[in-house]
Amino acid sequence: MKVGRKKRRNKGDMCVICNKYPVRNKGNGIWGKTCIYCHRKPYLLFRKTFCEECGFIPKYTCQLDVHHIDGNRLNNNVNNLKTLCANCHRLISYEQSLERAAA
Ligand SMILES: [Zn+2]
Ligand SMILES: [Zn+2]
Repeated sequence: MKVGRKKRRNKGDMCVICNKYPVRNKGNGIWGKTCIYCHRKPYLLFRKTFCEECGFIPKYTCQLDVHHIDGNRLNNNVNNLKTLCANCHRLISYEQSLERAAA
């Protein structure tokens, strides 16, 4: 018996983070919202549209990073995340490395 019917493609959700690729509809949580490229960066879901340090509003969201306040990239608690522009992020990371070196 032939199954000639084409499965209808669910043309719908795009990745909520990059809006470039379709979501990977597998599993729950982050998987239902992001593409295969963004699921490893769940903290990007909490990225704001401006730098929380200097107030910079970028042309593209790729100019903004999400900084982990405690330095633990696996701690994606909202309270541990801060949206920073590339400039502020570099500065804060640099200052943290100085503090670590001094400690
Ligand atoms: Zn994506
Ligand atoms: Zn900034």
